[in-house]
Parts: sequence; structure tokens; C-alpha cells
Amino acid sequence: MKKNLQQLANWLNIENQAFPETVVTGISIDTRTIEQGDLFIPFRGEAVNGHRFVEQAFEKGAAAALWMNDEPNPPQHLPLIFVDNPEIALQEMAKGYRNEHKATFIGITGSNGKTSSKDILASSLAPYYKVQKTIGNFNNQLGLPITILQLDEDTEISVLEMGMSGFGEIEFLTKLARPHYAIITNIGEAHMQDLGSREGIAQAKFEIIQGLDDNGVLFFDGDEPLLQNLITKQPTLSTQSVGFTQGLDLVASNIVANAEGSNFHVEGTIDGDFFISVLGEHQVKNTLNAMLVSKALGLTDEQIRAALKQVVLTDMRMQLIPVGDVLFINDAYNAAPTSMHAAVQFVNQTSIRGDKWLVLGDMLELGDDEQQMHEEIAQHIDSDVVSYVCLYGPRMKWLYEKLQGQFNSELLVYSEADYAPIIETIKQYATNDTLILVKGSRGMKLETIIQNVAQ
Ligand code: ATP
Ligand code: MG
Repeated sequence: MKKNLQQLANWLNIENQAFPETVVTGISIDTRTIEQGDLFIPFRGEAVNGHRFVEQAFEKGAAAALWMNDEPNPPQHLPLIFVDNPEIALQEMAKGYRNEHKATFIGITGSNGKTSSKDILASSLAPYYKVQKTIGNFNNQLGLPITILQLDEDTEISVLEMGMSGFGEIEFLTKLARPHYAIITNIGEAHMQDLGSREGIAQAKFEIIQGLDDNGVLFFDGDEPLLQNLITKQPTLSTQSVGFTQGLDLVASNIVANAEGSNFHVEGTIDGDFFISVLGEHQVKNTLNAMLVSKALGLTDEQIRAALKQVVLTDMRMQLIPVGDVLFINDAYNAAPTSMHAAVQFVNQTSIRGDKWLVLGDMLELGDDEQQMHEEIAQHIDSDVVSYVCLYGPRMKWLYEKLQGQFNSELLVYSEADYAPIIETIKQYATNDTLILVKGSRGMKLETIIQNVAQ
């Protein structure tokens, strides 16, 4: 953005703004990453009061800062905007900027695959449009407004990730961003604790339509009955479904993976053969949504095909990493039952390599059913196909015990809190025909294992 303080004050309904001509070109909530021209936003937390850093922010290049009305001793002669609540002010400014911005806005929610879908979509639109996307995982009530306020004035497409942990959060984000297109990637089990059931999760994701433009379109996982149910209750909503079930608007089949990525065939709104350099059927499904949004934005099938070929995904999402002779699939960014099953299924089916291993870590934040959800992974592990299973973390003990009946115990490694036994097993027994899936929740930091083997 490029706005002067008068314009920001207008969005905030503030009169008599000092330094009205001072221009800000970005937003920062952290003086360590602040950039020249940013508006610094101090938050007052329990441990730290951001107002203490305001002067430092100016020293590091901030053009202006917010200041809470009840915070004493504002620095004199600096361009400040006085507000009651910095978080609400941030959101109101983002709303103001969104409302006057000419870009096409795309909102993405779902239990898994938001970041992947965002990256696939943004990367496939990038050859044809000026695109900006959510950086990293900035997908909540602070991250989303910051992302919007960082948009350049001439950006044509904004791809926004919307995350949540309870009811009402997606509603809030979508009403702020008012997307022209919305995507629901899938319904999983994450946040079961707060939402009660998969139905609850589906409803919470479905809130995204509450901010959707009147002429907007919802793209969604058509293989998910819970979403199909919700859609039948919205007769006036324009939708496009993707997945693997015949009759959906875009259906993928013949998915064939190799060490470079996935070839697949689609039928429906788009017909033909496509390639994308990501692995896993679930990532192909994310790609289907991206293809339909690209088509809705006016790209030809040929443009979409060419763009998909050069897509690059964010690290640690089904990322192929050769280390010496061994080939790792690094999916250690996160794990929940749905994405765990999808990744294990991929290993069962792939012919990239013959000797297939699983290195799995705990899935966190699953609520009361966590034991059952860890045990259920056993059903997806094909013991005729998978050679070694290495399990890490206290919760993986449940899967370990479950597998003991069905799996040769010499090929089963369990470690509660130490990566070393797993690293040793890989170093000792992995060959130039070995493929190792590494997956667990963020807190398990399983990428450490890959880094250690590489040393
Ligand atoms: P977060 O809630 O942490 O932001 P996210 O929704 O952004 O997660 P990603 O980071 O894209 O999701 O992927 C997380 C995990 O889910 C990865 O292991 C990825 O391989 C898997 N995954 C991606 N897309 C899907 C999908 N459509 N269905 C199931 N699993 C998926
Ligand atoms: Mg994400």
C-alpha cells in the first residue's frame, strides 16, 4: 500500500490527525523485521508492551506508529495515530484498503492444504498476472489484515489463506476480505476439540461463503459429502466441485507419480493431461481447485498447463529430498489424520522406489479421540509394501502397540523422545532403492531426522 496518515485516519474515523501528509508503505508488528516506511503497530500483551518498542521502530525506519489512547507518555513530535485498540484498528484499516482495492481476491480455507493450494494457485497465476499471496502462515485475525495492507496498489490478484480454530473465525476473515472466489480444500479432523464433530468442522469452513462476492464462486472438495450437504442448502450459490468422483465439475484420474511429480488426466470443465511437480493425490486435488480458479480468471487450458509445469511449493509439503542414495519425502510441516492417511496411501501406491519406509511422529491437538486416531493409521499401512516403520513421540506408542501384531517387529522402531535410534536405523539399512516418508505435527520437528542423516 501507499497511503498517507489522513487516509488511514479516515478509515478509522479519526478527526484532526497529526502529520496527515506522512506516507506509509507497509505494516509491521515486529521491530526485528520492520522495513523503511512501515506503519508500526504495538500490541500490549501480558508479558511485553509493544509501546516500549515504538521509538526503536522509528529508528529502524518506521514512518508512523499506532498508539493506544490509554497508554501514557506518547513520544512527542512523532507521527502517531491514536486508537483504542490496535488489533481492531489494524482490521479496520485492512477493510478500508480492501474496499478500495481493484484486485481480484481469492480466499482459501479447509482443514489441510490451504498453504499448498495457495502456493499452487499463486504460482500458476504468476506468469500472467501480478499476484501477491499470504506470506507463510499469516492466516488469522492479525495475519490476514497485515497481508491485505501489504498489497501493492497495482496487484491484480490477492491469494489469501484463512485459518481458524473455532466457529466465527472464518466468518470474520471472509467478511473482511470479501473474496471473489473461495476454496474449501477439504474437511479433516483438526480442531475437533473445539468444533465437536466433522459436521462442525465443515460448518466452520463453510462460513467462508458469508463474505463471498454476490457474483462469486465457491470451489470445493466434491468428494466430501458434508460439503455437498451444505451446498444443497444454498440454491443460489455458484459452486464448482473437484475430486475423484465421477460427475464432479472437474475430475482427476490416472494419477501417475514419478520422482519429478505427478502426471494426471482431468475431465469436466477442463479436459486433458497435466503435470505438476508435487506428490500425492491430495496435492493433485489442490491443483484441481487452482486450475478452475485460473480458468475462471480467463486463462486458457494451454496457459494453465504451461503454468502448472513451473509451480514451486513451500518447503516440507510432500517435498522430495535426495540425501546421498536415499530419497526422502519431507512432509514434516504438519500432520492430522486426513493428511497422514493421504501421505501413507501415497507411499503404498507409488512406484518411485521399491523399498518404502515410514518415519511418523505424533499428531497433536486432536482432542479426546487422539489414541484412536493414532491407532487408525495402522489400517492404512500396507505391510506387504512398507518395509520399515519408525515411530517417534509419546502418542506414537499407541500406533506402535497396534502394529506389533501386524508387522515384523524387527522392522519396527519406536522412540519416545530421541531421534537417534531412527537416524541410526536409516543410516544402517537404507539403500539406493529406499524412499522414506517423514511426517508428523510441527511440534515434532521431524525434519531434524533428515538433516541429521544428511550430515
Ligand atoms: P495449516 O493449518 O498448518 O496452515 P494448511 O491447511 O495450510 O495447514 P498445508 O500446509 O498445505 O496445509 O499442508 C499440511 C499437510 O496436509 C501436508 O502434510 C500436506 O501434504 C497435507 N495436505 C495438503 N493438501 C491436502 C488435502 N487436500 N487433503 C489432505 N491432506 C492435504
Ligand atoms: Mg497453512
